[in-house]
Amino acid sequence: MKLFAGLGKIVENDVPLDRYTWMGLGGKAPYFVQPTTIEELAEVARRCRENEVPVHVMGGGANLLIDDAGVRGAVVRLCQGDFQSVTRSDIGLKAGAGADMGKLVLRCVRDGLAGLESLTGIPGSVGGCVRMNAGGVFGDIGNAVETVDVMDDDGRVFTRHRDDLAFAYRSTNITAKYIVGAVFRLAEDDPHRILKQVKQIWIYKKNTQPLGTRSAGCIFKNPRGLSAGALIDKAGLKGRRIGGAVVSSKHANFMIADTGCKSSDVLKLINVVRETVYKRFEVYLELEIEIW
Ligand SMILES: Cc1cc2nc3c(=O)[nH]c(=O)nc-3n(C[C@H](O)[C@H](O)[C@H](O)COP(=O)(O)OP(=O)(O)OC[C@H]3O[C@@H](n4cnc5c(N)ncnc54)[C@H](O)[C@@H]3O)c2cc1C
Repeated sequence: MKLFAGLGKIVENDVPLDRYTWMGLGGKAPYFVQPTTIEELAEVARRCRENEVPVHVMGGGANLLIDDAGVRGAVVRLCQGDFQSVTRSDIGLKAGAGADMGKLVLRCVRDGLAGLESLTGIPGSVGGCVRMNAGGVFGDIGNAVETVDVMDDDGRVFTRHRDDLAFAYRSTNITAKYIVGAVFRLAEDDPHRILKQVKQIWIYKKNTQPLGTRSAGCIFKNPRGLSAGALIDKAGLKGRRIGGAVVSSKHANFMIADTGCKSSDVLKLINVVRETVYKRFEVYLELEIEIW
């Protein structure tokens, strides 16, 4: 493997991606790279750029639908080694891009640090959550971000500060390819109070979302002032099935991948939902999930 010569420890070939996504779907990646240090990532970034290999950066795979045919180029998954680290900083917590969001919320409870409760029940990695400005009715991750460390295609690392970062609905102004870590500004608080809040949000999610099923969370963004789920529900699409893909009966903006589901089933169902909602309400639903 000339392209990644000397990096055999972190590079695998023809890896099925279904096992790395919450939907459990997707074909293979010719190169599947899991760097464990900044230096390894910098080397991978440089080699991919020099050899014009397209790169897909993956975190927890909770917001992805990957084509049955797989992807071209390299999938770089930042969830190993140093990227999982979480340490205290003078203003809160410093987390690597690969730190698990659920574990980070629990760490905040344990350490009595308030500010990330709104991320309760949102699966994924710190990098993916920052990239998506993950959140919802209880708040978004951007509210707590103080700095973000990013890496460009040349392997150079930069720190972006709160005053030049913009977080909007499921988006940010971060354009660098790789998010390698973030510092969160958190407030010292009573762990019992934080835990109470986390439990309340968890119960809300459990009651309103089909947790424990294979999904990618909300498929569509909420159109301004409207709820995508409510529109899909009003269009009578709850329970609509194509192959193994089903519109959840619990939350109409979730699609569940049942046994035997293929990505192509989900793609067809997305089109049916979009067309039906458009015909009924003249609202075009934009995707929240990312399709590779
Ligand atoms: C059951 C369920 C419930 C959910 N509920 C919510 C919710 O309430 N609110 C919400 O906002 N989302 C929700 N989601 C979606 C998902 O949890 C978020 O979008 C989350 O931010 C995805 O993080 P990830 O690490 O899995 O990213 P991935 O799915 O791996 O990637 C998502 C995007 O981020 C990019 N990315 C990932 N890591 C990095 C990195 N280190 N550097 C640069 N780019 C990167 C990817 O290239 C891709 O563009 C839910 C998903 C599920 C399955």
